[in-house]
Amino acid sequence: MSFRRFRILVLLGIFAGAVGLTWLEQTMVRAWRAPLDVTVIPINGDGSNEAAATIRALRASDFDDIGAFMQRETARYGVVQTRAMQVSLLPEIREKPPAPPRDGNVLKTVFWSLKLRWWVYRQSGQWLPQIGTIKLFVLYHAPQDGVALEHSLGLQKGLIGVVHAFASAGQARQNNIVIAHELLHTLGATDKYDAEGRPIYPQGYAEPDLPPGVPRRDAEIMAGRLLAPSGRAVMPPSLERCVIGAQTAYEINLDEGFRRRFASGG
Ligand SMILES: [Zn+2]
Repeated sequence: MSFRRFRILVLLGIFAGAVGLTWLEQTMVRAWRAPLDVTVIPINGDGSNEAAATIRALRASDFDDIGAFMQRETARYGVVQTRAMQVSLLPEIREKPPAPPRDGNVLKTVFWSLKLRWWVYRQSGQWLPQIGTIKLFVLYHAPQDGVALEHSLGLQKGLIGVVHAFASAGQARQNNIVIAHELLHTLGATDKYDAEGRPIYPQGYAEPDLPPGVPRRDAEIMAGRLLAPSGRAVMPPSLERCVIGAQTAYEINLDEGFRRRFASGG
C-alpha cells in the first residue's frame, strides 16, 4: 500500500471514529438513565476585574438551580432519578474558544465547528476525548449599559456549550437560564423564538393550550422569554419560572423516560 493510500485510510478511520463517538455519546446522554455529567469551565470574557472577581467567587453550587430545574422538568416527563445532573466546576482557563463565523456561511460554519471541537479536546488536557460529558464554557463579562452580550450557543455534536454571561451577582439566576438553554441545545433541543426574539406559538409558550395573547407566568426554556401583561416578551427572573415544553421534551428524547415509566409491563 502506498503512503498516500495509507494516509487516506487513517483519515477515514479518524472520521469514522469521530462519527461513531458522536453517535455513542448522544445515545448515552439522551437515554436519561444516569445523571447528566456536566462540567463548567469559566473564562474571563473581557479581561475585567468584575469578571475576575466573579470567577474567583464561583462555586459548583452556584449552578444548583439548573440541576433543580432539570430534575423537576424531566420528572414531569417520567424520568425517575435521584438527581438529573452532576455539575463539576473546573479551574478557569485563559484561552477563548474560536468565535463562530459572522455571516452564517455553511462551509465556514462546518469548519468552525470542527475547529471548536478540536479546541475543546486540546483544552481537556487528556488523551482520550471525554465521552458523554457536557462541556460548558462560560465567558463572564462586566455588565455595560446598552451593550448586549454576544450570542451564546450549544452544539449537539461534541456536547459543547459556549455561554456569554454577566459578571454580576444580581444576574446569576438569569445566567443560569442561558446556561440551561444552551445545555438543552447540546441534547438536541431547538430554539423556539422568532427573528424578533418573541416566543413562537404554541411550542415556545408555557401552557400552550391558552391562546397566544394571554400573558404567562412561565417561559418555555427554548424560547427563553414569556409574554408579560404588557404584551412584551421578557426574560423570567429565574429557572423556577421556566418549563420544558412538549416539543423540547420530544427533541431531547424525554419520551424514552416516559415510556420506561408508564409503558413497562404493558
Ligand atoms: Zn438557542
